[in-house]
Amino acid sequence: MKYDILLKDGTVIDPAQKLHDRRDVAVVDGKIAAIEEDISAREATQTVYVDGKYVTPGLVDIHAHVYAGVTTWGVKADPVCTTTGVTTIVDAGSPGWATFPGFREYIAQPAQTHILTYVHISGIGLVYGPVGEMHELDYAHPEKVADTIMENRDITVGVKVRQGQFQVGDNGVEPLKLAIKAAELADTSVMVHIGTGIPLPDILKLMRPGDVVTHCFQGNGDCIVDDKGRVIPDAWAAREDGIIFDVGHGGGSFNFEVAQRAMEQGFISDVISTDLHSGNINGPVYDLPTTLSKFLSLGLSLEEVIEKSTIAAARTIGREEQLGHLKVGSVADVAVFDVIEGEFELFDTHGTMVIANQKLQADLTIREGKL
Ligand SMILES: [Zn+2]
Repeated sequence: MKYDILLKDGTVIDPAQKLHDRRDVAVVDGKIAAIEEDISAREATQTVYVDGKYVTPGLVDIHAHVYAGVTTWGVKADPVCTTTGVTTIVDAGSPGWATFPGFREYIAQPAQTHILTYVHISGIGLVYGPVGEMHELDYAHPEKVADTIMENRDITVGVKVRQGQFQVGDNGVEPLKLAIKAAELADTSVMVHIGTGIPLPDILKLMRPGDVVTHCFQGNGDCIVDDKGRVIPDAWAAREDGIIFDVGHGGGSFNFEVAQRAMEQGFISDVISTDLHSGNINGPVYDLPTTLSKFLSLGLSLEEVIEKSTIAAARTIGREEQLGHLKVGSVADVAVFDVIEGEFELFDTHGTMVIANQKLQADLTIREGKL
C-alpha cells in the first residue's frame, strides 16, 4: 500500500495554501503524502470517508495551561486535545525556569499531543489563583529564563509575563521590561497578558514587533476599547508596528461586547486561542472549537477562524515551516470537523450569552499520522 490513511471526499480548508475545495488527503509515515482531487481507496491501508466534512490542519492553541499536578491551573492535554482537533497546544507560561525540567519530563515528553511552552519571567511560574507571581522583582532572572529557552528550543516558544496589577503589585511595567530582556537574550518573543490596573498604552509602547498581546478582548478595564467602545489609538498603532493580538479567552478575559465593538471597527484578532485551564474547561471555554464557534457567531468566516487557529498561530510561535498547514511533506497533523446547524448557547466570561446557529465540532484528530 502506498498510503497509511486516506481522508476521502472531504472539503479541505488550508488557508496557508489558499485552499478551500474538495480534495483527498493521503498520509504515510506520519507525513502528508498527497493532496489531490481523486486518490483511489485501493492505494491506502485505511480509508476514512469524510464527505460533507471539513479537513483542516491540526489546530494550534497558543494559550493554554497544561502543567497539571504542579499548578492548580493545569489540565491534562491529551484527553481534551485528541478529541477536539488540537494537535499542538502551547502552555502560556505555567513553568518558570525553576519548574521547567518537570514540565519537559512529565508533561511534554510523554504526551501524544505536541506540547510547547512559553517560559514565565517569574522563576516560580504560575502556581495557583492568589499568587501574584511578580510581586517580587527578585523572582525574575532574565539570564536563567533565556538559558532555559535556548537549551530547550524544541519545546519553548518565548517568554510569558502577566501585566495586571494583581500579578505585579506595585511593580508597574518592570516585569515586562525584564521579560523583554530575557527575550532579547534568547532572540525570541514575549507574550503579555493584559489586565486591569496597568494602563495598556504603557504596556504597548514597550512591546516589539512579533510580541503577543493575549486576552485582547478582555473587558475588565484597561482594555483595547475606551469607555465609548472605540478602539484606542495605541492599539491601532501597536498593530501597525507588528504586535500580534491573541484572544486567550480564559476564565475572565473574553467579553462579547468588547470583541463585537472592536471587530465592527475592523480590529480583528490575529490569533484565536483558548487560555484553557482547570477553571474554564467545564465552561465557558470547554475547548478550541467552541471558542472558534463564538467567532463564527461574531461574523468571521469558517476559513478565517481556521486561519487564526492554524497558520497564523504557528507563525506567531515561529513554527510556520513545520505546523499549521497541510503541505506535502509536512507532519500529518490533521483535523476533521462537522459544522452543525442549530441553536447553541455560547457564553463569554461575564455571563453574556449569544445564540449561535453554527457550531464547529471535531470528528477526527490525527497527530503525526495517527488517528
Ligand atoms: Zn493564561
